[in-house]
Amino acid sequence: MAQFDVDLFVIGGGSGGVRAARIAAGEHGARVALAEEYRMGGTCVIRGCVPKKLMVFASSYPEAMADAAAYGWQISRGGFDWPVFRGKLDAELDRLEAAYRAGLSGAGVTVHDTRAEIADPHTVRLADGREVTAAHILVATGGRPFVPEFPGAEHVLTSNDIFRLEALPGKVLIVGGGFIACEFACILNGLGAQVTQYYRGAQVLRGFDDEARGLVAERMREGGIDLHVGTEVVRIDREAGGLRVRASTGREAVFDAVVYATGRVPNTDGMGLAEAGVTLGRRGEIKVDGWSQTGVPSIYAVGDVTDRINLTPVAIREGHAFADTVFGGRPRKMDHDLVPSAVFTQPELGTVGLTEEQARDRGPIEVFCTSFRPMRSLFAGRPDRVMMKLVVDAETRRVLGCHIVAPEAGEMIQLAAVAIRMGATKEDFDRTVAVHPTISEEMVTMRKPVRTA
Ligand code: NDP
Repeated sequence: MAQFDVDLFVIGGGSGGVRAARIAAGEHGARVALAEEYRMGGTCVIRGCVPKKLMVFASSYPEAMADAAAYGWQISRGGFDWPVFRGKLDAELDRLEAAYRAGLSGAGVTVHDTRAEIADPHTVRLADGREVTAAHILVATGGRPFVPEFPGAEHVLTSNDIFRLEALPGKVLIVGGGFIACEFACILNGLGAQVTQYYRGAQVLRGFDDEARGLVAERMREGGIDLHVGTEVVRIDREAGGLRVRASTGREAVFDAVVYATGRVPNTDGMGLAEAGVTLGRRGEIKVDGWSQTGVPSIYAVGDVTDRINLTPVAIREGHAFADTVFGGRPRKMDHDLVPSAVFTQPELGTVGLTEEQARDRGPIEVFCTSFRPMRSLFAGRPDRVMMKLVVDAETRRVLGCHIVAPEAGEMIQLAAVAIRMGATKEDFDRTVAVHPTISEEMVTMRKPVRTA
């Protein structure tokens, strides 16, 4: 490999790229360089999971304060000070970015704070014209928000902008029905904004278990979000009072801000990929095989830029597997099966494995499901409802899917995923003694299927 300047050049300093660079250099002794054009840490750290989760926490306090009063505490509630929160958020992101940099330099990775493009299968060109040759190139440039074209599209915000707002909007429209749209609808609602959400389909969170997303949507509405399905934006005009939005249903309303969360697209524009022989898909995603290798043997790609499963922990695992395979002499593929995930709505939705709808197309199943009002909010007089569902293969008895709508469902699904990954059967769940009194104990006490299919 000595004929190249480095053994590995990583383009993109997000979750996947940083993990690959650190493992290749720090554990396997490769000579590694990494280029990042914005801030180290990528979408997850700078404008995604981390600031979002901190906003989820911030938005949960009004409910906690109402509960506290119901439990007998004397509470005097003030307003939410966005600049105070944002200042702390900025400081936290600075801290995390510094930790990412320290991790890279500790592993011996050379960092270039600049954009990089592919000049040929073994050469990366930096924005200042310098070229670095590499035995292997890893593209980990992530994705960015996608906003469809329509009259007035220039007026909208995306998730990238929310963390940087000078002031929180009083009246906001969220467009979309996926992870980001539903999470931000709940966050802004919790922070006191008047939230309307437009989704083009019949039910939000397409792809998740029908019953689970139905309950999330119901709870979002009960929580105060004005959710309209079967609704698209036709045009937006700026006027003195705000943004006038005309919808496909004929509805017209004025908002302080409109946030589009209509999906994300891979960051592959102008990267020299196609010119180097790399195949791109219809949405611009990099086509890779199970080893994260493109059709050009020296070029690999991990994370959202490959548009497989667009989640931070998946990008991290893909980056790690790549580094172990190429530099560690330990060939291994990332397993994309049974990846658990959570939508941080209020309440949260945690999920792993097949939905009921997917499973019943594959063979006979039994569905175990329970929905009830949990003790904590019942006592406080809140109309919360939680749901637990296990989808079971009627023949092998294996649990094929688990879906939880509940406070902290993200925490619960992580642990359920271990059992399911190990091949747990319904009888394994049944044999496990309940932890009482908890919400999750219902997971091991569902005796009779509610349906078979
Ligand atoms: P999603 O793909 O989840 O959702 C996009 C939404 O926008 C869908 O409801 C889609 O509708 C709608 N949409 C797409 N195009 C249009 C259009 N032209 N007009 C109107 N509506 C449109 O994307 P997100 O942006 O919410 O999130 C991107 C990815 O980031 C997620 O898939 C997830 O992998 C990841 N993520 C994960 C989180 C987590 O783990 N908690 C949090 C946030 C993001 P339709 O359903 O009809 O296609």
